[in-house]
Amino acid sequence: MTVAHVRLKKGRERSILRRHPWIFSGAVQSISEEINEGDLVDIIDHNGGFLARGHFSSGSLCIKILSFENDVIDAEWFLNRLKKAKVLREELNLPSSQTNCFRLVHGEGDGLAGLIIDIYDEIAVIQTHSAGMKRSLESIKSALLELGYQRIVLKPVGKEKSTVLSGTIEEREKVLELGLTYHIDILHGQKTGFFIDQRNSRDLVKSYSKGRKMLNVFSYTGGFSIASLAGGGTEAVSLDASAKALELAEENAALNGFSERHQAIKADAVPFLESNSLDEYDLIVLDPPAFAKHKSARHNAIQAYRRINEAAIKGIASGGILFTFSCSQVIDRQMFYDTIISAAIQARREVKVLYHLRQPEDHPVNIFHPEGEYLKGLVLKIF
Ligand code: SAH
Repeated sequence: MTVAHVRLKKGRERSILRRHPWIFSGAVQSISEEINEGDLVDIIDHNGGFLARGHFSSGSLCIKILSFENDVIDAEWFLNRLKKAKVLREELNLPSSQTNCFRLVHGEGDGLAGLIIDIYDEIAVIQTHSAGMKRSLESIKSALLELGYQRIVLKPVGKEKSTVLSGTIEEREKVLELGLTYHIDILHGQKTGFFIDQRNSRDLVKSYSKGRKMLNVFSYTGGFSIASLAGGGTEAVSLDASAKALELAEENAALNGFSERHQAIKADAVPFLESNSLDEYDLIVLDPPAFAKHKSARHNAIQAYRRINEAAIKGIASGGILFTFSCSQVIDRQMFYDTIISAAIQARREVKVLYHLRQPEDHPVNIFHPEGEYLKGLVLKIF
């Protein structure tokens, strides 16, 4: 196999020696020949020594590394990585009789930088985050077929339409999470159809819900509301700006027999939280979308996190519990924590931290790629 080369500047191999799976364009000395978007390239040090192999992109994140060895990256290589990912999930008891949706491949955490695969029972949903992964679709699809997934969808990251690569996908598919049933819209919904990454936090919400009235802000299809009602919550209000998401939230309440205790409100969360009295709620969830997708948006994002948290901490009933999250990769755990402290100072209430939350175990983090730890949460008790 002839592979193009990208030569690094002297000293810039350091991150590779620490096994970080990304190379930024600023580290590149030269590119050996014409390279196209998504090509497999070898990374060499300034003396020409082999360092790693990965997918090339012309952006500032120049290479996503797939291997630090002299591996042939072909269909068999993909099959082996996917098999390894599947074995890990089986060890984590996924799927189980209670939960049949989970993440099979979590990018760098599974040695597959640029690739996400979520499983919804028999369906595999692929998201590619690099041109190289997009070009590897045939290998990925055949590996999934080999692993027994006959229904496969490619879900674009932006606004493009989903492509069904194998089998058929209905407008509504049914999945099971922690023994609860959810309708999901894989083809048109957000992410791959469901926020699988909140499974463990939903379980915790469930355990704190008995006798509580919940306000689930940024509810999407109502995952936290359904969990709360299953845990004995008296009422759950799902609030979201998307009518489509709320339609599914109502369906999900009905599917689980909770319609009478569930209400949906379509509203913009920030003015809603700041202008309504919230003291009827003693359980609030704040799970906003990634307010900052890039470092440049970080400052404004922190202000937005501070505002919604200040409003919730100020307004919640005494003795109430707040679950608050950030899924912005560029806002790290400490920054998020500091923002919540600042919100609590402004709210002038007594606040205790009960838990630090993160993404679940089927979203593993490559220890050399701390950026993979994107989901941060806190559980606060407010007096
Ligand atoms: N908690 C959800 C996932 C939340 S995703 C779950 O467990 O499934 C973020 C949600 O915020 C999306 O559904 C999006 O429609 C909604 N959203 C984004 N901006 C909003 C705003 N300004 N006000 C209300 N909802 C908003």
